[in-house]
Amino acid sequence: MPRPAYAAHLAIDPLSGEFADRSTESAYLAHHLARTRPQLAFTLLLCSLYFLGFFATDLAALGLAPDALLLLGARVLVAVVAGSCAWLAWRRPLASRATRLAATVSEVVALSCFMLIAVHRPGEFHWHAMSLAIMLLVIYLYIPNRLGYALGIAALASTCFLALTLAYAGMGFSDLLTLGMLLSLVNTVGALAARRYNAMAREEYRSSRILQHAAERDHLTGCYNRRFLHERLMVPAAPRAPAAPLTVILCDIDNFKQVNDSHGHTAGDAILQRFAALLQAVVREGADSVVRYGGEEFLLVLPDTDLEAGVRLAEWLRTRFAATPVDTADGGPALFATASFGVATGAPEGGAPLAALIDAADKLMYTAKHNGRDRVESLALSAPEMAAAA
Ligand code: GH3
Ligand code: MG
Ligand code: MG
Repeated sequence: MPRPAYAAHLAIDPLSGEFADRSTESAYLAHHLARTRPQLAFTLLLCSLYFLGFFATDLAALGLAPDALLLLGARVLVAVVAGSCAWLAWRRPLASRATRLAATVSEVVALSCFMLIAVHRPGEFHWHAMSLAIMLLVIYLYIPNRLGYALGIAALASTCFLALTLAYAGMGFSDLLTLGMLLSLVNTVGALAARRYNAMAREEYRSSRILQHAAERDHLTGCYNRRFLHERLMVPAAPRAPAAPLTVILCDIDNFKQVNDSHGHTAGDAILQRFAALLQAVVREGADSVVRYGGEEFLLVLPDTDLEAGVRLAEWLRTRFAATPVDTADGGPALFATASFGVATGAPEGGAPLAALIDAADKLMYTAKHNGRDRVESLALSAPEMAAAA
C-alpha cells in the first residue's frame, strides 16, 4: 500500500529497526519512555536480586574462601550499579538517553563480573554457559535497549566466554562446538525477538501518528480541522503569563465560487492548497496553528502575538497571496486570487476565550469583504470585552 507523503518521516530503517528520521526516533523514544522506564527499573532490580542470590552457589562451590568473598564483592557491585541505574531511570523521567545509558552500563558491568565468576569456578563451565544464555536472553528481551548496543554487548560477551572456556575449562572439541552453537543460537533468537518487539512498538507508534494525522488534519490542505480546533485549541488554556496577547486571523478567499465555476473544482483545489501552504509556511512550528475553518476559510491562532504583529502578518499574506500565480492541471494560464482578513487580538488572563476572538475576527473579515475585499481589518478587544466573553 503506498504510504501517504506526510508519513514519509515515519519510515523504519530495515537494518537498525529504528525510525530513519532522527527527530521521529527521538519523539518515539520520548513517547515510549512511560513504558520503557518501569520495564528497565523492574528488570534491573530483579536481575540484581538474582545475581546476589546466586552467591549461594559460590559458597557451595568454593566454601568461605577469599575467592568466594571476591565474587561476593563483584555481585554486590553489580547489584549497586544496576540499582543505581534503575534509580537514575526513575529520577530522569524525560531522558531516554539516560535510560539507554543505564541499560548499557548495567549490562556491561554484569557481564564483566560474570566472566570473573566463570574464571574463579572453572569446574562448572557447562552451568556457566547456561547462565550466560539466560542472561543474554534477558538482555535482548527484557531490557529495553538499543538493539545495536544489545547485539554488540551480547556478541562480545559470548566471544569472551568462549575464550575463557578455551583457556580454563579444558573441554573437548565437541563440547566447545556445542557451546559455540548454543551461544550463537541464543544471540540469533534473542536478536530476532528483540527486533520483532522493536518493530512492533514502532509500527504501533507509526499507526497512531497516521491515525492522529487523519483525525486532526484536513485531507486536501494538511491544515488542522475543526475537530482539532474544538478539542485541542478551544479547551480552557493553562494559566498564561499575565497579559500575554493572543491573536487570531480569519481569512477567506475572495470570489472563490467564481473560480470553481469558471475553471473547475480542480483549479479551485489548487488555489486552496497554495493558500494553505503559504499560511503554513509563515507560522511558528509548535506555537501557532493553521485551521481550515470552512470551505475556503482559514483560521490562524497565534499565541503571544500582539495586534501590530498580527496585522503585519496578515498584510504580508494578503500581498503575497495576491501576487502568487497558481498553475492549474489543465495547462491553462496561471490563476491569481485574493483573500480578505480579519485580525482580532485579546490579552486574556488565566485562559483565552478563543471563541470570542474568532467571533470578532469573523465579523472583521466580513467587514473586509464589505469594504471591497483583498483587505485586512483589525481590532484589539478590550479587557471588559474579553472578560464578558470568557
Ligand atoms: P466571497 O468573496 O464573498 O467569500 O465569495 P466566495 O465566492 O468566495 O464565497 P462563497 O461562500 O459564495 O463560495 C465559497 C465556495 O467555496 C463555494 C464552494 O463550492 C467552494 N468550496 C468549498 N470547499 C471547497 C473545496 O474543498 N474545493 C473547491 N474547489 N471548492 C470549495
Ligand atoms: Mg470566499
Ligand atoms: Mg467563505
